[in-house]
Amino acid sequence: MTPIRCAYHPDRDALHYCNRCGKPVCPDCVVRAAAGNLCRACVEGMRRGPARSPHVWLWVAAGVALVLLVVLLPRLLR
Ligand SMILES: [Zn+2]
Ligand SMILES: [Zn+2]
Repeated sequence: MTPIRCAYHPDRDALHYCNRCGKPVCPDCVVRAAAGNLCRACVEGMRRGPARSPHVWLWVAAGVALVLLVVLLPRLLR
């Protein structure tokens, strides 16, 4: 049986699993919360609040850029 490594420390054995995302984490990375053992990323994600994306405008800009590309590319290729 090969030891499972921590998702944040490739050189350390993971002794816990995150209750939220299922990542293996070492004792230094595990965060004990009301919901059980969590990883750092999940704790930070919960601190930032519910799943409201702060990058929504980035996606809107990306969408606009994509539309412009699709509209302009045939003209440039012609
Ligand atoms: Zn997690
Ligand atoms: Zn770790």
